[in-house]
Amino acid sequence: MLAGAACRAEPANHRLYGVPCLIDIASQLCVRAVIRAAVSEGEVRLNLSALMMERFPRWLIERLFTIGHIAECSGWRAFIVGGFVRDLILGKPNLDIDIMVEGDGIALARELSETYGAKLTVYERFFTATLHMPDGRRIDIATCRRERYERPAVLPEVEPASAEEDLLRRDFSINAIAVHITPSRFGDVLDVCRGIPDLQCGLIRILHERSFIDDPTRAFRAVRFEQRFSFKIELQTEHLMRDAIKAGMISLLTRDRIKHEWIRICYEPNPAACIFRMAEFDMLRWIDEALSLDGELKRRVLFNLPEAEGLTRSAGVAYERWLLYLMPLIDGADFESAVSICRRYSLSAKHSQALLSSLSTDKVIQAVSLPMQPSAIKAYLDALPVEVIAYAIAKAIAMGFRRALDSLITYLKNYINARPDVTGSELISAGIPAGPWIGAALREALKAKLDEGCDKTRQLEVALKVAKGIAAVVSRGAKIGEEGRNTRSRKRDKIAPDHREYTKSDD
Ligand code: ATP
Repeated sequence: MLAGAACRAEPANHRLYGVPCLIDIASQLCVRAVIRAAVSEGEVRLNLSALMMERFPRWLIERLFTIGHIAECSGWRAFIVGGFVRDLILGKPNLDIDIMVEGDGIALARELSETYGAKLTVYERFFTATLHMPDGRRIDIATCRRERYERPAVLPEVEPASAEEDLLRRDFSINAIAVHITPSRFGDVLDVCRGIPDLQCGLIRILHERSFIDDPTRAFRAVRFEQRFSFKIELQTEHLMRDAIKAGMISLLTRDRIKHEWIRICYEPNPAACIFRMAEFDMLRWIDEALSLDGELKRRVLFNLPEAEGLTRSAGVAYERWLLYLMPLIDGADFESAVSICRRYSLSAKHSQALLSSLSTDKVIQAVSLPMQPSAIKAYLDALPVEVIAYAIAKAIAMGFRRALDSLITYLKNYINARPDVTGSELISAGIPAGPWIGAALREALKAKLDEGCDKTRQLEVALKVAKGIAAVVSRGAKIGEEGRNTRSRKRDKIAPDHREYTKSDD
């Protein structure tokens, strides 16, 4: 373990279970009213059962108790652990139950799946299982284990171990706090990595010096938790993280793992803050060399993305956040580099097209800065992926392009979901035969609505006129076609005998 974490409120050499330390922690944590330092068998212990009773719904307490009871019947210790415990102490809602068992986690999961009628997924290689409960919730159950990394950045080999060892293999001290759920010790805290003092101090601290080398995804995780909780990456952790990044450890990860971490970063409450921090750690170029946050404009655009997202969301359109947040980073890259990112990370055709078209955002901004009829704006922007529109909004704000911004916002507010007031079935009821002209007619009706503010009656008139016009042209065309076909077949009849003769003689 790293010695002497730079903890503001605690002396560096505090004893983990020392009375002053516990009382201090209990008094400073937001949960102080419900954490109690229990004295049991001469040892001062922190017990969170009162906090759990207060924070968890009754069904959850019952569920944890049942799991603990079944484990205890087999002579095993069972704990809640990880983010679930961290968030309990921080007072953040989290119902992703993470259980670790000093025993056989998979056997426990099998028994629980019968008890609850839950579906079970087992990952034998990692000694873990997931219960998919009938109420739609999931419970992750793992056998306590130690890990061995054959090489940097590969998935580890694991073997069963004690609860204490399991905590030591984890990423950060704040994620390595366990709480007993076996009934005899329900609520007792096991905090061998001093996660509670770090939670109190707001520190992200790794647990051993090779942590980022073994698993460079922890660099992404460090940034993520630091920004999510407004914590600080502890000094020595920061040095080791910088060293691992500089040594190119991120590039040893598989693309899938990097992509997964990127997506998780982008679904944080404040992805922009995480990305700024990643840029400070020089992480971006290891994801791909075409990514950068260089220049004031890119930073301003990134800063404005949440506002653009808000506008997009209020239009009720779905977008991919992880794609949107790539756009400022790739802006200014050449087309080939962008194509290479799409290939490296196996983006789908749709996502690749969105990313590549974001390279032309300046042209979009220029285009919508010019005076245009509403229907023309709609037709132009409808053809673009919504992420590009959100990105163009952020960029227009950053560049101070008011007209473009107004057009883009108006599009999202008024045009993106606009429909004509008349429907296809109304046109058919009015005597128009079903056919492709219905769509064209409805487009004209919408144009009349958007550009001229026409009411429904007028839209219907416009649509009928267009539909009849097209239908007439099409049927005239069909007649001409038929006549043409008849003439041709007559000609063929004339030619055919000669042709037959020709082929005959050819034989
Ligand atoms: P979140 O709130 O983002 O879901 P979490 O801490 O619950 O955070 P998970 O990815 O679900 O994150 O992981 C659960 C627990 O597993 C973590 O709290 C941590 O103890 C451990 N863990 C996850 N990833 C790693 C890793 N890369 N290295 C070591 N331990 C990890």
